[in-house]
Amino acid sequence: MKRLILLGPPAAGKGSQAKKLSKALGIPHISTGDLLREEVSKGSVIGKKIKKTLESGDLVPDKIIVQLIKKRLENEDGFILDGFPRDIEQAKQLPLEIDHVILIDASDEKIIERVSKREICPTCGRIYGVDVPPIRKGLCDDDNTPLIHRPDDRPESIKHRLEVYHEKTQPLIKYYEDKLIRVNGDLSIDEVFKEIIKQITA
Ligand code: AMP
Repeated sequence: MKRLILLGPPAAGKGSQAKKLSKALGIPHISTGDLLREEVSKGSVIGKKIKKTLESGDLVPDKIIVQLIKKRLENEDGFILDGFPRDIEQAKQLPLEIDHVILIDASDEKIIERVSKREICPTCGRIYGVDVPPIRKGLCDDDNTPLIHRPDDRPESIKHRLEVYHEKTQPLIKYYEDKLIRVNGDLSIDEVFKEIIKQITA
């Protein structure tokens, strides 16, 4: 069972790759962003505390996220982590040894352009964009729900999320140097996927 971390700027395609890898390798996709958004939509105590932070693009306090991820990783052997760790402190809190850290890289310009066209289904979380448009404009292929823009995909939020990425998350590239696999996130979803599979099975 593989233990993988997906690293890269927001909207680099981590979520899309995690879903494909999860299917291909038979291991769960664990997205801390999804876990946190779920808390917000449930209106839980944690959800109420973090709603504003999520919208602004700042990081949620370590105490909350570390507790959430440790609980989620209980009883899991292999997994794909998407969105965790976000900084070196969080990396130190990971209770399990990791096999590969996959960096999906893309320029800030490309990210800003991509995010302006990204839409998400508020019911099932499926993401649509230029590469994967919905069959019917503005509606989810799976459940017909009207698609929305993520509140933290607004231009001011995405710029801030990129700043947070450069300052806090990028140092993880050096930290995980010996496990790092680099892929070019400008390629198509299928090309990125093929490249990842090639490198993790080499
Ligand atoms: P994502 O879906 O990974 O882009 O995450 C969306 C938002 O959730 C981020 O902008 C943060 O506010 C929060 N978040 C996700 N993962 C973490 C984490 N590991 N540490 C702190 N905040 C996180």
